[in-house]
Amino acid sequence: MGLFTVSIGTRLCHLGASRSGALDRRGGVYRRFDRLAPRGIPARWLGLVWLLPLLVTPPPRPKEGELWFTLLDVGQGLSAVVQTRDRTLVYDTGPRFNERFDAGRAVLVPYLRQHGIGHVDTLVISHGDSDHTGGLGSLLAEVSVGRILANGPIGGRRVSVCRDGQRWRWGDANFSVLHPALDAKGSDNNRSCILKVSLGDRSVLLPGDIEAEAEHELLKQHRRSLNADILVAPHHGSKTSSTASFIDAVAPDYVLFAAGYRNRYRFPAAAVLRAYRAGGAIPLLSAEEGAIRFGFGPGARYAPEFYRKETRQFWRTDAP
Ligand SMILES: [Zn+2]
Repeated sequence: MGLFTVSIGTRLCHLGASRSGALDRRGGVYRRFDRLAPRGIPARWLGLVWLLPLLVTPPPRPKEGELWFTLLDVGQGLSAVVQTRDRTLVYDTGPRFNERFDAGRAVLVPYLRQHGIGHVDTLVISHGDSDHTGGLGSLLAEVSVGRILANGPIGGRRVSVCRDGQRWRWGDANFSVLHPALDAKGSDNNRSCILKVSLGDRSVLLPGDIEAEAEHELLKQHRRSLNADILVAPHHGSKTSSTASFIDAVAPDYVLFAAGYRNRYRFPAAAVLRAYRAGGAIPLLSAEEGAIRFGFGPGARYAPEFYRKETRQFWRTDAP
């Protein structure tokens, strides 16, 4: 487990561990030192004062009127979190790494805990592929989740079906579903639930794993709504997606690639990277930067913040 405590919720993971077995063991150590220490050292408890900031510092959260968008580093898969001051939306839950370990447990839940989030108001699952749903079980086991929006049943769970035209507001933040339409056909990738999130004049577009076919459909239905400051590249930067006309319509300042370090698909494709660069977008790769956050709103700085880890995560190390 020590290997995994280097994930994004580093501080929280350590605290979490010390609440369980580690605390007992540590408690035992403290008791032994207590017995060895000379009696009568005054105010020994003052030694614990350094812990106080950990106990009294409130978890970081957006200010009133702000929105945070964070693309998590989940290896080869996708998971992102949208936070306003009072509400939280999760878009996809990342991959499953093995039978007992997934991005929900390794990354998403620690991130939520580190930010004091025990309830997810809306969970959007773009589509059923395991690199997007692998952390779902862990998420549902650890935090309460209000509404689940998905393009169909996910693992037999009841969900609200996401449809083009759905909209809602959280304060000044606007959320709109642009796809799939009621009669959308094609692959599960091409029926991904596409979400656009806006606040003021800033926006982010989350198109799941759509490919050229759905991009073409979007251009017919929503050409003017596609423009966004930040785009999470469709299908991890696969060359099956990101057609020239789609890039042109979105015209992002930043394009984010949610792809694993040296992933076997070689995402993002070199030609896709070149196409975004040629369109004036700055590419950012989760495999290189770790988690990537943008803040929207009057007081927020519109520039990416990177959450590099002190130690590389296990999915970002070279194979032996
Ligand atoms: Zn995917």
